[in-house]
This record gives sequence, structure tokens and C-alpha cells, in this order.
Amino acid sequence: MKRTIGFIGLGIMGRPMSKRLLEAGYPLVVYDIVAKSVEEIVAAGAKAGASVKDVARQADVVITMLPDSPDVEAVAFGPEGVIENIRPGCTYIDMSTISPTVSQRVAQECKARGVKVLDAPVSGGDVGAINGTLSIMVGGDQATFDDVLEIFQVLGKRIVLVGGDAAGQVVKACNQIVVALTLEAVAEALVLGTKAGVDPAKIVEVLSGGLARCGVLENRGMRIVNRDFDPGFRIRLHYKDLGIAMSAGKAYDVPLPVTAVVHEMFKQLKLMGRGELDHSGIVTLIEDMAQVQVKKHE
Ligand code: NAD
Repeated sequence: MKRTIGFIGLGIMGRPMSKRLLEAGYPLVVYDIVAKSVEEIVAAGAKAGASVKDVARQADVVITMLPDSPDVEAVAFGPEGVIENIRPGCTYIDMSTISPTVSQRVAQECKARGVKVLDAPVSGGDVGAINGTLSIMVGGDQATFDDVLEIFQVLGKRIVLVGGDAAGQVVKACNQIVVALTLEAVAEALVLGTKAGVDPAKIVEVLSGGLARCGVLENRGMRIVNRDFDPGFRIRLHYKDLGIAMSAGKAYDVPLPVTAVVHEMFKQLKLMGRGELDHSGIVTLIEDMAQVQVKKHE
């Protein structure tokens, strides 16, 4: 008999992830503050929980997939929260992208109550969530990881225990630094190429075969050239994630000079009303500075 999973946070990521768990045969109890999202997953076979507390009391494993650190604090802590209400011996996995310091506190409070705990943020976007091909970076102990690996395998392809408590969140912050700074570099290159009279599609094509080849260039380069900024991952969420990276830099006393600049650029984009664009929309800021628009691919 498969364990009952409680799933809290049915957004862009949580809905497809919970559907995959249902398809794999896990009994699911779900909760979100948006009733319509709950209805969609109930129609797919889940049971609706009345509250966070209700979900936590029914589940053997609770997964949260929430926007930001304050949301996880609101759901995890307090008399109505996951940690107070999940049965000791059961497991709480937070898969949201949040601050490592909040994640540490979640781990400490779980352990104080005899609850097993992992932080397990993901990379791979909504497409990875739909196809079950997410990269999952896990923090916690080996025994808890081994115990729930079969659940992670429904959701992801590359699943790595990267260290102890909150290590998953540290690695996710590293991921977001690499993606943001690479995107910014791709954006500068394509604006420069355009203003110098070169077809930006040719730049993407030839760079994708050399040392500059990377997922960001392959995945987002042509989106920039096609001027397709429909969100896979929104500017406002990447701004949040670079804020997490900057706080981690402060907490661990690591200068992050270029991350700081790109963090400010995402802030500027948000202020300009572009926070809902895909993060590849960072190119629009460079375009404004250079007074030129990357030539749309015909
Ligand atoms: P989202 O905003 O679409 O979904 C979050 C869900 O949480 C919403 O349905 C919201 O109603 C719900 N929620 C908020 N507060 C709640 C509460 N107190 N109780 C119950 N439900 C609550 O966000 P998303 O895109 O699904 O992202 C979730 C997390 O995954 C974020 O931390 C994000 O940074 C991370 N992430 C997102 C992507 C992506 O491509 N979208 C990729 C990797 C990681």
C-alpha cells in the first residue's frame, strides 16, 4: 500500500507534480488557498483537505510547493501548521525555493518533534514538472532521502542528495545565479550583435556549437530572437531568487558582485511593469539602454 501524500501549493508547479503522483498511484490529500486549483486536482482523483492542519493530520508525507519564504513560514509553523500536526515519524518535504535560513529553521523544528525532514527545491520549470524530468536538489540525511526516493523519481530525473539540512536551497541559489547571469550575458551579446548588423539567430546558431554552448543559450536564445516572452519562469520570481542568493551571500560572507547587479536589473524590470514576462525578458532592459531591439527572426 502506497503512503498517503499531502500536497500543499497547487500553482504552476504544484498542479502537474500532484497529477503525476496521482497517476503513479499515491493517495493524495491536497490544499491551496485558491479553491479552483484544488477542484482541478480533486477532479484528477485527489481528496480535498479542509486546511493545512487537516492535510498534515492525514498524510504520511507532506510536500509543500509555495511561492516564497514567508508562505512556507505561514504553512509550516504555528499551531495550525504542518510541523505541529503531522504525525511524528512521518516526513515533511519542502520543494519551494526559499531562503536557506528559513529552511534550517524548518529542519530544526521538525527534528524537535520527531518529524523527518528534507528541503528539495527543483529546476526544470513547468515543462519538467509536467514530464517528470525535474532536477531535484535535496538537503537532509541519507536515510530520509532513501526512504522517499521513489516519490522523487515520479517527479524528476536527476535527483541528488547534495548535503545536510538546507543544502538543497543553497544549491538552488547557486543554480539561480548561474541561470540569471548567463541570461544577462546572452542578452548583451544578442543586442550587441544586432546593433553591429549581424543576424542574432546566426549568433545563437554558431555559439551553440562552441564553448559558449549551454542550456540557457539553447533554451532561451531563440525565444529572445523570436521575441517570445510568455512566462516559463517569471522575472518577479527570479528577482525573488536572486534576493535569496544575496541574503545567502550576506549570511555566509561571500561577495556576489555581479549577482548584485543582475538582481538590481530584475528589480528595475519589475518596476517597469515587466515582472510577469519570462526571465529572458531581461533583454528588453539592455535593448532600452542600447536604443535598439534584437531583430526578430523571420
Ligand atoms: P505559483 O505562484 O504558481 O504557485 C504557488 C501556489 O501556492 C499558488 O497556487 C498559491 O495559491 C499557493 N499558496 C500560497 N500561499 C498558500 C498558503 N498559505 N496555503 C496554501 N497554498 C498557498 O508558483 P510556482 O511557479 O508553482 O512556484 C512554486 C515554487 O517553485 C516557487 O518557490 C518557485 O520559485 C519554485 N519554482 C518555480 C519554477 C517555475 O518554472 N514556475 C521552477 C522551479 C522552481
